[in-house]
Amino acid sequence: MVIFLCAALLQQSIITDPAFTRTLQTVFLLHALVMFVQAALVIVNWQQLNHHGLPETSVYTLLSHILLTTFTALLLPWLSFLKLERKLTLKSQRDGLTRLANREHFFNQVERYWQLHPSVPAVLMMIDIDFFKSVNDTFGHAVGDRAIAAVAKLLSKQLRSNDIIGRIGGEEYAALLIDLDEQTALRISQRLCQQVAEQLTYIDDAKVELTISIGLVHVVPSQHSHTAVFKIADEALYASKQAGRNTVTLGRLTST
Ligand code: GH3
Ligand code: MG
Ligand code: MG
Repeated sequence: MVIFLCAALLQQSIITDPAFTRTLQTVFLLHALVMFVQAALVIVNWQQLNHHGLPETSVYTLLSHILLTTFTALLLPWLSFLKLERKLTLKSQRDGLTRLANREHFFNQVERYWQLHPSVPAVLMMIDIDFFKSVNDTFGHAVGDRAIAAVAKLLSKQLRSNDIIGRIGGEEYAALLIDLDEQTALRISQRLCQQVAEQLTYIDDAKVELTISIGLVHVVPSQHSHTAVFKIADEALYASKQAGRNTVTLGRLTST
């Protein structure tokens, strides 16, 4: 009972101090070790135990007790290992500055979507901050970093929680908007451009006047490879840059 309570506490992150966790792990591992030794002794002395008239039910009770306790003793280190592993996995998937999915994780998620939902239409959106080099040059890299994080925050806030958003380059983001039609996606993109231009005029005290350009493509996954879709979205983004920036371009896939 106590062991289960400890395990639950650890799982719920109530015990967050690594020193406590380590102490608990050590104690539980020691416990498990002692139990293993006891189990080994019972097995080695099995014949002797029965010769001396110990009722068979007692032997089984003892054995099951040892096995069960060993299992519960191992449960805590195992749970804490799982927790740590999950934490490390999450960390390796996130971009440190924006907390968005990093490039690799974003592409993995898109690939998964292609496999799992081949017939659910989606919109791939490529987003790039305009003239960002001059933001860095004029206001410094620290302001530049905060600008990158501010755009990411706005994107996360405006898109839905089941949309897949990632930072796929320095000042470049991508989003896969799930189960959405083309016109709605176009409206969302135009609104994003407008919101960045209106809301991110200042980063701290620096008058950065950020704008973004967007390229987007509407796709039914089963009909096109995701690499083809990325290429068209990228070309659409490039067209937005050519058109003067702070704008949205809808890319078209040629039917296969
Ligand atoms: P365009 O409108 O054509 O996109 O022009 P741009 O200046 O935004 O594009 P360019 O590719 O010339 O410059 C991107 C800049 O982004 C250059 C690079 O120093 C900066 N950058 C990339 N990653 C980071 C980052 O993590 N932090 C900061 N502060 N700057 C970054
Ligand atoms: Mg740029
Ligand atoms: Mg760029």
